[in-house]
Amino acid sequence: MKEIASPTRTKMLLEKYGFTFKKSLGQNFLVDSNILRAQVEAAALDKTTGVIEVGPGIGALTEQLAIRAGRVVAFEIDQRLIPILEESLRPYDNVHIIHQDVLKADLEQVVKTYLRGLDKLKVVANLPYYVTTPILLHFIESGLRFEHIVVMVQKEVADRLTATAGSKDYGSLTVFVQYYTEPELIKVVPKTVFVPRPQVDSALVKLSLRKEPPVQVVDEDLFFKTVRACFAQRRKTLLNNLLHQLVGKERKRELVQVLHELDIDPSRRGETLTIAEFARLANGLQNLVG
Ligand code: SAM
Repeated sequence: MKEIASPTRTKMLLEKYGFTFKKSLGQNFLVDSNILRAQVEAAALDKTTGVIEVGPGIGALTEQLAIRAGRVVAFEIDQRLIPILEESLRPYDNVHIIHQDVLKADLEQVVKTYLRGLDKLKVVANLPYYVTTPILLHFIESGLRFEHIVVMVQKEVADRLTATAGSKDYGSLTVFVQYYTEPELIKVVPKTVFVPRPQVDSALVKLSLRKEPPVQVVDEDLFFKTVRACFAQRRKTLLNNLLHQLVGKERKRELVQVLHELDIDPSRRGETLTIAEFARLANGLQNLVG
């Protein structure tokens, strides 16, 4: 039998079940075995690895995960795909499909129930683009020890995840993700490898979870509040954003003094600060905020 990802098998399965794509659910199915191979190779799977997948669709990626990993749990929100997956993935006894919105899932419980006893934990998925950021945050904030998160995202999101300070793509998402993970661009992927074709190019990215944050932060909550404040209005200076979003206008003199002591120029824009500088800034703001 041909791979599920092959264009003929995909067409056959879709026609047999009379499946029609829902754009609102980000349904663009991958029909290119080479891209799938690049993705599973980047994930470096073996039989001691448990994988969580989001949005198996008709199972193109799930099949490749099942062949290489110890066990796969896949969340699919669309009820209409469940009978198709039952047929396409029948040969694999190490796959469990959960019909649920992944954002509503208790990931810790799912890992305990279905991936117990496996040495490593990874996330591998071709994400629905309308909900990319919440899904990435859901996995990162779960606190679960995923080794890697290897995902297909919009090219534009990949640019934001891998951006460096000072570039137009650098923002609070960049800082959040790079605080917890080391992102790597694996491959830019053209629209042509999906049915139906999405309107944007895609990219495969690998986020390797850090064992320790790259910088020392005294209060993580204040660190992320500081980052968000600095990016609130990109054209405003650091000083103005901090005054309006975090510190309060009446404390301008104290804020200028703190920035001076930290050797951070108040007229800089948030997007020029490195993660180390954001950490220095947030630690320095401790006595002024809160
Ligand atoms: N994995 C398949 C592939 O590579 O061909 C399909 C990927 S398609 C880009 C995204 C999939 O995510 C669709 O099957 C869609 O129904 C599913 N999906 C959308 N929102 C979801 C959510 N909140 N939770 C779980 N699955 C979701």
